[in-house]
Amino acid sequence: MKVRTRFAPSPTGLLHIGGVRTALFSWAFAKKHGGQFVLRIEDTDLERSTPESVAAIMDGMHWVGLDYDEGPFYQMQRMDRYKTVIQHLLDSGHAYYCYCSKEELEAQRAEAESRGEKPRYNRAWRPETGKTLPAIPSDITPVVRFKTPMGGSVVWYDQVKGRIEISHDELDDLILARPDGTPTYNFCVVVDDWDMQITHVIRGDDHVNNTPRQIVIYQALDATVPLFAHLPMIHNDQGVKLSKRRDAVSVVDYDKQGILPEALLNYLARLGWGHGDDEIFSLTQFIEWFDLKDVSGSPSRMDRDKLLWTNAQYIKAADPAQLAARVAGFLADKGVSTEGGPALADVCALLKDRCQTLVEMADQAEYFYRALTPTQEIADKHLTPTDEERLKLFAEAAASLATWDAASLGALIKEFVKQQGVKMPQVGMPIRAKVCGITNTPSVDAVLALLGREEVLRRLVA
Ligand code: GLU
Repeated sequence: MKVRTRFAPSPTGLLHIGGVRTALFSWAFAKKHGGQFVLRIEDTDLERSTPESVAAIMDGMHWVGLDYDEGPFYQMQRMDRYKTVIQHLLDSGHAYYCYCSKEELEAQRAEAESRGEKPRYNRAWRPETGKTLPAIPSDITPVVRFKTPMGGSVVWYDQVKGRIEISHDELDDLILARPDGTPTYNFCVVVDDWDMQITHVIRGDDHVNNTPRQIVIYQALDATVPLFAHLPMIHNDQGVKLSKRRDAVSVVDYDKQGILPEALLNYLARLGWGHGDDEIFSLTQFIEWFDLKDVSGSPSRMDRDKLLWTNAQYIKAADPAQLAARVAGFLADKGVSTEGGPALADVCALLKDRCQTLVEMADQAEYFYRALTPTQEIADKHLTPTDEERLKLFAEAAASLATWDAASLGALIKEFVKQQGVKMPQVGMPIRAKVCGITNTPSVDAVLALLGREEVLRRLVA
């Protein structure tokens, strides 16, 4: 059996991290088994589906780098196929026309509710041997309903949740097609997963209630029922299920926040899945280690600090040239030109152990390209008249330094500190404040070395 999985988002909002986690697990499972990963856009909800949302999904998938082997398929382009299958179910006696009016259904619902029962269609139009159906009303366009088996139950072995059994009696006779002939959600999913030969349906456990309704349709179609794996929900930091509306954070917003896509995927892989105590691992390792049986059945919680920590590990390990390519964009957004300044890759190499995001890195890189004015607080603390006097003396010493590199600068500063009879911070902090405008910087000799003699002297005497 060739493993085939899919990600089937509805384009009714942003691609948020819950969706990406589902996509990641489906993708990794297919990769692990040398199988295929399919992208399908479930766009039959015409009122809520938007082209912007389709674009957001595609952008998000591209940004995180989850490549699909087939698709994107669009359900709206498969209408003819759904209609053919509905006709087939009608012909084979697994579906029937129902002419119940809205008012009748409303009355049935009210009655069930008054008895404290679940609202349920009374199956008046369901054909049975020996049963006479009502006369067809002329003013009603029928819906098509699925003839759900009665008695017995649906059983499946969920790859995450274990054995689940739902009695057929709990399932209504699902509407397959609306009066205008458009097929309904649960039905389209079955036809798609069947046609696309999906072997493992890996999706959020908000779909677990749909699964028995879908399985009975597979059975009526004589189609192989795929395996199902329902992933636990992700909760926000208040412990409430992430919602598309309330916690609408598009995955590409993480890009804007300076999160690396590799770090986001690593973080998401740990939401509801684990491999011992491993926190940082490559996608290759994830694919190798991933198994549905290790997915936790209980919800996991979005933890911003952990995401930032993960991102910091990725920044630390990243190639400075690659960081520079990304940080350049953030600097440009701030109106900072790197022309004439030190190579951005060298700056990133110096900063990469100190930043949790690329935004932070761009903020810290800024003083390498333009002098920043220190805040009043910094000036009061580190740029007193005594400090300024001392900085002038230091500038003189630096001007005649034979070689301008970190080692020589380090030695010079040490010597200067001794000669002035002060402590290291009394020289280091004023230099930072004067040259960088901030005091939170890497070691001062390395910063000065990178900035270059000319620029440092200019700033020291400014
Ligand atoms: N379109 C559904 C959603 O976005 C997913 C359906 C499925 O995975 O079966 O929630």
